[in-house]
Formats: sequence, C-alpha cells, structure tokens
Amino acid sequence: MTRQYTSLQMFIAGAWCAGGTGRTAPVIDPATEEVIGQVPLATTGDLDRAVDAAVAGFEAWRSTPIARRTAVLRAAADLLTERADHVGRVMTLEQGKPLPEARGEALRVADALRWHADDARRAYGRIIPSADDTVLSVRREPVGPVAAFVPWNFPAGSPMRKISAALAAGCSIVIKASEETPGTACEIVRCFQEAGVPDGALNLVFGEPAEVSAHLIASPAVRLVAFTGSIPVGKLLAARAGAEMKPTLMELGGHAPVIVCADADPVTAARRAAKAKFVNAGQVCTSPSRFLVHESLIEDFTAEFVRAADAIVVGNGLDDGVTMGPMANERRVKAMEDLVVDAVSRGAEVVRGGGRLDRAGYFFAPTVLTGVPGDARVMVEEPFGPIAPITAFTDLDDALKTANALPYGLAAYGFTRSSATAERLVRGFDAGILSINHCGGSVHEAPSGGFKESGHGREGGPEGLEGYLVTKRVSHLLED
Ligand code: NAD
Repeated sequence: MTRQYTSLQMFIAGAWCAGGTGRTAPVIDPATEEVIGQVPLATTGDLDRAVDAAVAGFEAWRSTPIARRTAVLRAAADLLTERADHVGRVMTLEQGKPLPEARGEALRVADALRWHADDARRAYGRIIPSADDTVLSVRREPVGPVAAFVPWNFPAGSPMRKISAALAAGCSIVIKASEETPGTACEIVRCFQEAGVPDGALNLVFGEPAEVSAHLIASPAVRLVAFTGSIPVGKLLAARAGAEMKPTLMELGGHAPVIVCADADPVTAARRAAKAKFVNAGQVCTSPSRFLVHESLIEDFTAEFVRAADAIVVGNGLDDGVTMGPMANERRVKAMEDLVVDAVSRGAEVVRGGGRLDRAGYFFAPTVLTGVPGDARVMVEEPFGPIAPITAFTDLDDALKTANALPYGLAAYGFTRSSATAERLVRGFDAGILSINHCGGSVHEAPSGGFKESGHGREGGPEGLEGYLVTKRVSHLLED
C-alpha cells in the first residue's frame, strides 16, 4: 500500500464501515500498475441500510432551515478547499491526471458546491392570482432520496455534481462512486461529515456496479436515479428506472465535433482545440473528438495541432512538469489501440503517436490522425482518449450534417471570425453545450447536458437544481 493514499470505506448512516462480507476490490495506480488500496464492496444488506438511512436522513435534512443547510454545505466546501492539495494527490494516485489538474478539480468542485448552496436559497415557488376564492400557489420541494452512480474520469467532479445539487435541493443521497477512484469520493464525504451533514443525508457505497444499481433502483424509497457514464449503461439504468416510474437524470457520452470555418485563424484554433483535446488524457465526455477543418486551412491547422501534441509531457501525474498522465485503466488503452488500427486499415495516416508507451502504466501517446474517412470507428464511436482525427470539409452545411449525423448531442465547438457564421453554427449544432472560438469546459453557473442519446436533465446553473425538485400545486379555500 502507498502511504500517501487514503483509507477506503463506505459511509452509511453517518458511520464509516466495511462491506458486510468483507469483499474488496483492488485499486490500481494507473501510472505504475501497483495496487494502492482495497475498496470494500457492498452486500444487498449494506445497500438496504444505506436506503433506510437515506429515508431518515431526508426527513432530517429537508426540515433543516435553509440558512443552516447553506452554512453546512459552505463549511464542507471550505474544508475541501483547505484539503485540495491532499485530495488532488489522492486523485492523481488513483486516476492518473496531473497533480495541478487534480488539485484544480478539487478547488472547482468546492466552488460549485458554494454556488449550489447559495442557489438553493432561491428555489422559489409562486403565488398565482386565483380565479376564485382560493389562494393558489406553487411550491418546489426536494424529490426525496436519490440513488446516484458516477464514473472514474472526474473523481471529484462527477460525485460532487450529484451530491451538491441533491443536498442543496434538500434531498438525501446514496451515491455509488467508481470502484476505480474511490479515495477522492471518501475524502469528499469526510468534508461533509465534518461540516455537520445529518446522519443518513449522504451515504457512500461501492460494489459490483450492476448489482448495486439494480438493487437501489428497485428500492421503493428511492425517488430519483442520477447517472453519469456511458450511453449503453445509461439506457439500461433508465429502462430499469422507467419500469419503476422513477425520474432519471442522465449525463452520458458524446463525440464532440469541432468545425473550423474557412475564415478562422487556423493556428489559434489548433492551439485551443489541442489544449482541450488532451486534458485528462481525452477522457472527458465533452472532449473535442472530431476535427472538421475547412480544406483551405487543413495544412496550417494540422501543423500547429501536431506542434501542440509534441509539446505535451506525458508521465506520472505526480511528477513536476507532466501535462498528460496515463489513461485511467487498461480498458482505455486497448480501446485506443483498436481505434487506431481500424482507422489505419481504412486509409488514415498516423501523424503523431498512435500507440501505447513502452513503460509500465496505462500510457498512450497523444495521437493525431489525418485523412480519416467518415466510416472509421474513431469518427463514429466516442473515443474517450487522446486521439484527434482531423478531416477536411468544403461546404459548411455538409460539415454541420456530418457533425449532427451521430446519435450523440453533448458538446460542439466552432471557430469563425464572422458573427453570422457563429450564429449559423449555434443554431445548426444539435448539442447541449456549445463553444465558439474556444473549447470551454463546464461552469457551475450554467447548465451542462446533452441532446439525443447523450442524455437528459442538466447539471449546473439553476437548471441543475430543477431535477432534484418536485412541484406541488396548492389551492387553499380560505375558511373563517
Ligand atoms: P462502462 O460502460 O462499463 O462504465 C461506465 C461507468 O458506468 C463506470 O463508472 C461503471 O462503473 C459504471 N457502470 C457500468 N455498469 C453499470 C451498471 N450496470 N450500473 C451502474 N453503473 C454501472 O465503461 P468504462 O470502461 O468504465 O468506461 C468506458 C466508456 O464509458 C467510455 O468510452 C465513455 O463512453 C463512457 N464514460 C462516460 C463518462 C461521462 O462522463 N459521460 C465517464 C466515464 C465513462
């Protein structure tokens, strides 16, 4: 075990615990392939305890005055801010991203929590002028205990988006964080515990993902299912929740097109797009992943993109100066290799990278492919890794058709100097998250979420709270 890592336990009903049967799974440092910890796995008995705790926790938390709730959440955010160095280190050890990225993620989610805590104070209902003698009002109330399932790519970001919105809205939550990155989730939950969140309002479990989700979704007390992850798993969980008539929030995959128009500056576009491409080794649902560049700019764009890829320092995220860590797990390396082999077999050229690095750890080189045909797998399947396929277009309408042709609709990016063309892109893209002249990341003040198979519901902004609230219409006939 590595001393710098952290203690891994589940948190149920306000207490840290191991799983009922003592079953565990190893946690691996992706930069070294060493086992750094053992994460406990829940039994169905543990899950039932977590749901019972969430029922009690909901009653306690929803009836806590909003000023106190906000104070507790802000205190948790302050603890996380104080501990950002340590939390970042835990995150880098278990997920691989460079330490500054990991520390930045911890600080960002603390700030997002503050934003949600304050926004919840404005979850107003309304009084409606009534047509008769009744007082007609609309109230917003927390939906109830939430079951949430989150992945490994943002070990702080993904759990905190669910926890912040759920707790701010007054819900309780049972969250299954990723068994591959459990330490960051434990550190986060410790902040809430020390800040004074009532027992049962926040419960953290790990386990066999399919077993845990099936059990929690079927639990009658669970009132909302929130998931971040792949489209196939999202569809499975949404179908399960639908069978129980439970609402869902689904933050699923994407395959974000970047359209570089004929009037754009190819050098600036390439620098900005490449920076976003290789963040978190490309393991981001909004990562720019299909580069459609006007034929007149393709040479300059590609040259600058390759320069940016060459400048990336790949290595152990704990080391100074490293700008891209390993992939989070062996599955992703294999997936990258398969995508490159397929693209090359269809005529693409590997301009940079193209394979795993010859060293221990799940390292894959920043990869640039050109001349990639539209039917190559990397152009139609979410790559979720550091591969940039670049292809030329002639006509902007055709490029937009290509951009919208896939079942994804999460993020899309456009580069142009013309405000009219920018507006054409904004109207034309079928996607929930758009950036013009840069590749912007998520911000907590504004909603993120997808169209089409990329999911439904929004995280961030006032919309982020919406999913965790229910609406009551109340008409009150006054009596003397
Ligand atoms: P996966 O589809 O097996 O798992 C994705 C996530 O869902 C993981 O966290 C996993 O633990 C969880 N999961 C899997 N089956 C589950 C179930 N039945 N119930 C509850 N949770 C379940 O794939 P993976 O290898 O972990 O990741 C690969 C793909 O997942 C990527 O290609 C990417 O498309 C997608 N992904 C998306 C996001 C995102 O932010 N939208 C994050 C991580 C992974």
